[in-house]
Amino acid sequence: MSNFTTPALMDFKFQSHDGDDYGEYFETTNRIAIYLIPHSECIPNLLATITHELFHKLITDFEGDVIDIEQEHTLIKKLMWFEQDLV
Ligand SMILES: [Zn+2]
Repeated sequence: MSNFTTPALMDFKFQSHDGDDYGEYFETTNRIAIYLIPHSECIPNLLATITHELFHKLITDFEGDVIDIEQEHTLIKKLMWFEQDLV
């Protein structure tokens, strides 16, 4: 079932289970987790991670499982560059 009309719940946590992730989008629960410790040296990266995970939600809402995660990351990278007028 699509979460298109439902805003994602965003949780801020200190770190992921493996400690390396910056953020994650969980489609089944429509939840975004943002991990703060990896961002401790750069606040703009925190905002970029929030945008990155929101793009995951939007792409999932529109495309479902049509594209794989590598294609999704390529698209997100282009959207992030476009957002900063770099494309
Ligand atoms: Zn990602």
